[in-house]
Amino acid sequence: MKELTRRQMLVGTAAAAVAATVPLIAAAPARAAAPQFGKQAPGFYRYKLGSFEITVVTDGKSRVPITDAFVTNASKDEVKAALAALFMDTEIFYGPYNPIVVNTGTNLAVIDTGNGEAAYQSTKGLNGQLLINLAAAGIDAAAIDSVVISHFHGDHINGLLKADNTLAFPNAKIYVPAPEYRYWMSDDEMKRAASPRIDLLFKNVRRVMSGEVLKRLSQYEWGAEIIPGITAVATPGQSPGHTSHIVASGNSKVFVHADVTHAPYLFVRNPGWHPFYDHDPVKSEETRRKVLDMLASSRMLVQGYHFPFPGVAHIEKTTTGYREIPVQWDPLI
Ligand SMILES: [Zn+2]
Repeated sequence: MKELTRRQMLVGTAAAAVAATVPLIAAAPARAAAPQFGKQAPGFYRYKLGSFEITVVTDGKSRVPITDAFVTNASKDEVKAALAALFMDTEIFYGPYNPIVVNTGTNLAVIDTGNGEAAYQSTKGLNGQLLINLAAAGIDAAAIDSVVISHFHGDHINGLLKADNTLAFPNAKIYVPAPEYRYWMSDDEMKRAASPRIDLLFKNVRRVMSGEVLKRLSQYEWGAEIIPGITAVATPGQSPGHTSHIVASGNSKVFVHADVTHAPYLFVRNPGWHPFYDHDPVKSEETRRKVLDMLASSRMLVQGYHFPFPGVAHIEKTTTGYREIPVQWDPLI
């Protein structure tokens, strides 16, 4: 054994003397640094609406580069300035996805299904998180009896299927807007697809809307009460049959607005901006202004599919457009 030097001995003696007078410190065991988790906590958030319980379950987010064509009637610089003003990345647009589960006491319904389990694998967990977060929220996918779809874009319907193409919600009836079904399942409309992007959307709709999904499908019309407490509202433009939903229990209501606007910090604040994915930009803007006006004047709660998680907010009118006011996180429900 190596001999201790006189200096080390003195230090050691001094340390021992201190330890003798401060026994608690001396008794504390040595600890290694705690390991970091390296991943986000499961994302779900609950609130009450009358007697209903709503659970917002994040599906993750998208990552889209900001190009000149991101907003067709505003410059890239204007979009970047809007993002910079919010301390956000000005090169990449991050769009969240917020499907919800509505427990009415009678039904257990999901509104929109996220990007699907296959996307979880292909995006390395960036999105397609719904089933994982649903399980973390204590909700069994097999217990869902109703899936309500707002429109047929992939981020809303792909989650109907698991990665092996079996049903994500095997015991659910699937409710889809009739005008949306008519458009996307029409071979004539498919032949008229205005761009390669729309053509891909048609192909994706036909991939998902087949087999076991079709067997469980039920079309609903605008204005219909789909299941007790969930009513369809026509909000066309972003997609020909795009539909929002009013969930109502007693005097409480929330407007589940799907993609009337995408990220509110861009498109609620600038309702005249036309994002590249709007099917009919003029119709979409008309719908957007009508809905935002109604939300601002009625002060109705809004649940935004692409709002920052958990996507629950109110809308107020400003001199240039509108502004979203997020509801404060509530640790109780
Ligand atoms: Zn969407």
